[in-house]
Parts: sequence; structure tokens; C-alpha cells
Amino acid sequence: MKIYFIGAGAGNPEQLTIQGMKIIKKADVIIYAGSLVNKDILKYAKQGAKIYNSAKMNINEIRDVYAKYRKKAEILARVHTGDTSLYSAMQEQMAWCDTRGIEYEVIPGVSSFCAACASLKQELTLSGITQTVIITRISGKTKVPSRENLKNLAKIKATLIIFLSAGHMERVVRNLLHGYSRKTPAAVVYKASWPDEKIIKGTLTDIADKVKEAQITRQALIVVGDVLKKKNFQLSKLYNREYSTMYRKAK
Ligand code: SAH
Repeated sequence: MKIYFIGAGAGNPEQLTIQGMKIIKKADVIIYAGSLVNKDILKYAKQGAKIYNSAKMNINEIRDVYAKYRKKAEILARVHTGDTSLYSAMQEQMAWCDTRGIEYEVIPGVSSFCAACASLKQELTLSGITQTVIITRISGKTKVPSRENLKNLAKIKATLIIFLSAGHMERVVRNLLHGYSRKTPAAVVYKASWPDEKIIKGTLTDIADKVKEAQITRQALIVVGDVLKKKNFQLSKLYNREYSTMYRKAK
């Protein structure tokens, strides 16, 4: 058996890559994260494929499925939400496979932060404003190392993407004000790319209230930074006519 860890995309089933779709079509067993993965991607499953929803399983039960099909199945698709590289708990599954000599491969997906920025029609890195994006979360059951707390990250004033934190907006904003100003724009994208997507825009002064009013506590991303103003940035060098690149001469 070979396990494919697949990023399913943020919600819209068309975000599943062709590479991921091909594996799902061939898979004998599919374990998908039913909390956030769109079930429509299961329509690609072949007849007779065994399908499990990992939202209802603990890690031992997931491993039991790996163990059960180790000799019986050729392909097992383990489908995670967004991209596999962020907050996916993929590594612990791979470490378990390593100790047992189970082969695996990773197929990336569209992370929810990419989908959210597409919905916001937003580039995260704008010349003259910031060239850095910080991806983080607030401490919950999983602790964030103290050197990375939001107060410290806010001082860098880069673009910030905050996962898993929409239920703690007041704490998030309080911490961010140690670096960003009250006027810094912020956006919260709920269920990016799903039919019931919602976008809330504001500044660090009012975003927490607006999100509370919209009753958004989960399945949302917080984006913070001056790039959201979409103005006062410099034009890129990449397309500047006065600069040559490998592909074209300056004019
Ligand atoms: N691997 C995933 C993240 C999983 S952690 C990825 O790359 O997107 C789960 C968190 O991701 C949620 O709490 C939320 O902060 C964010 N998230 C996942 N899907 C989302 C979506 N469609 N819209 C907004 N946020 C989403």
C-alpha cells in the first residue's frame, strides 16, 4: 500500500488538483477530513472504495485503518483540507509510516489563505509596503512558542495571516496593537471559496466587533496589514519597462 497525503483545496471542489483527482479516482481507501474538505470531491471515488471521515476519528483509529489496509489496498488517499503543509497533522502520520516502512507521497493543495486572498483580490506582498508574509495562529490547546507570540510578530508589521483564531478576535487585536496601529486594515474571510463565504473588512479598531456581529468563530482566516489598503505601493520591477529581465530587454 502507498499512502497519498493530498491537499483538497479550501472548499471549492474545483480547487482539487488534477494530480489529487487522479489519485482519488484510483484509491481503494479514502480518509478525508470531513470537517473542512468538500464532500463533492468524493464523487471521483471508484465504486467500492472504502471511505472514512477523519473528523470522527482519533489518530489511533486512523492508524488502525492504515494498518488494516496495509496488505489489502494498493492506494490509500488521505485527504486534508487546504494544503498539507499547514496545520494538517500530516507529519505525525508520516512519522508513523516511517517506523513501519509504509511508502507515501504528498500532493499539495490550494491553502485556504490562498483562496481567501483570491476572494479578497489581494496580493500579500506589495513593493514599498512589505515583502514578508507571516503565517501564524493564536495559542489555544496547541501552544504557540512564546517568542512567536502575536505581540512580537506585530512589531515586524509584515502581512499577517492568522489561522485557527477567529473565535478569539479580541485577544488577537489586543496583541496586534503592540505593533500595528489602530488604523491598520484587517479582513476576516469565512469559508473562503465555499458558497456561503463571507468577507468582513475593517481596521484593528472595529474588526473584532464586526466579526462578533457576523457570529463568525471558526472556519475563518484573519488577514492583517497595510497591503489591504491596495494603495501607495510601488510598481513591480518585474514588469517595469526600464528593467531588463532574462526574458525581455528594457526599453
Ligand atoms: N491545511 C489547511 C489549514 C487547516 S487548519 C489550509 O492549508 O488551509 C484549519 C483552519 O484553516 C481553520 O480554522 C481556518 O482558520 C482555516 N481554513 C480552512 N479552510 C478555510 C476556508 N475555506 N476559509 C477560511 N479559513 C479556512
